[in-house]
Amino acid sequence: MRESAITRRRFLQTATAGSAAVVLIGPGLASAGRAASLSIEVPFHGAILNRRHGEEVKGGLRIEVSGTAPLRDRVIVNGAPARRAGAKFTSEITLREKETQIVAVSNGISGLQEHSVRVLWDRYSQPRYRFSIDDNSFFLRDIAQKDYPSLFDCFYLKGLRDLHTKYGARFVLNIYYTTGDGFELPQFPDRYKSEWQDNSDWLKLAFHAYADKPARPYQYAAYSQLIADLDKVAEQIIRFAGEKTYSPPTVIHWGMVLPSALKPLYERGVRVLSGYFRRINGIWDVNYMLDDVRSEYLSRHDALMDFDSGIAFSRVDIVCNSTPVERIIPTLEPLVKDPNQAEVMDLFTHEQYFWPFYSNYLPDHFKRLDMAIRWVTEQGYKPVFYHEGFLAKPE
Ligand SMILES: [Zn+2]
Repeated sequence: MRESAITRRRFLQTATAGSAAVVLIGPGLASAGRAASLSIEVPFHGAILNRRHGEEVKGGLRIEVSGTAPLRDRVIVNGAPARRAGAKFTSEITLREKETQIVAVSNGISGLQEHSVRVLWDRYSQPRYRFSIDDNSFFLRDIAQKDYPSLFDCFYLKGLRDLHTKYGARFVLNIYYTTGDGFELPQFPDRYKSEWQDNSDWLKLAFHAYADKPARPYQYAAYSQLIADLDKVAEQIIRFAGEKTYSPPTVIHWGMVLPSALKPLYERGVRVLSGYFRRINGIWDVNYMLDDVRSEYLSRHDALMDFDSGIAFSRVDIVCNSTPVERIIPTLEPLVKDPNQAEVMDLFTHEQYFWPFYSNYLPDHFKRLDMAIRWVTEQGYKPVFYHEGFLAKPE
């Protein structure tokens, strides 16, 4: 009895350790294991694939499809028989359209099974970066109060323009409706409108939130609240800076909204949302409340499409205000070497750290931006806006 008890315990340990072990046990037990069901594992449902993920062929991208299936089953992938090795199956397909449905079918002792995933081909992909700055409101208050002759008399916008002049950098500034101390967007004059428009090829404004406080304002808010705030800010941006300066939101304050808010955001023109997709105290956070599986995927990939809403999620690659100058390159460099993270650099920071009156003021904040932008520029990355085309490339 003792021996068999140990054997059984060992089996249970093995069985829970990995799916590959399960198929060795026998049909009755294996039916409870993962390999008893058909599953496409690569590519991931919603994956955005580019030349780094396969072989470019005439008019297409040839990629490998792999997964697991019951040991004895014959597996067909998009009409072609797959190779088998143990519980694994492998096949190749060629993507020729922007969107491709991959269908795997297996037939065997447990009957007919089917699993399908959809993927996108980022056909015109090239190394690119976008720079987004969150929590903006102080610079608008400053310009309105000082009544400068030019927008760029404000040191903040001047600093950004210097980076544009040096590197061709483009910026999206995600703004609040109010600073929370009496200044609101309707007080911002429209006399700079032509200056905004003249610079709209590299400087855009987008909604971020109604105000800095409270934190996580839309995490559990009805989508109608979020959309009402968005509309209020959008109306003001268009009033004082013109249509050309307006960008749909690319980051919502705290990166958290209810799933029910995604479609309404899509209807307001949102095509990409950036977040951290990072585990904080063991919980996936700043992830637009995406499920754990996709959050984990995004934590190590550039982007992922959510077909239900039509919005692609992008992982922020660096937060300049929390990355010291000497850590900028070591943070970005490994990404360039990873095919899953090398194509799109999502660079990011927050406005408040530029201001000497702010409690956590960073005197070297512009130096950090310069370092990040100079480095990606030297690596061949081009500045883009996410809302031009599909992830800033032609569709
Ligand atoms: Zn924010």
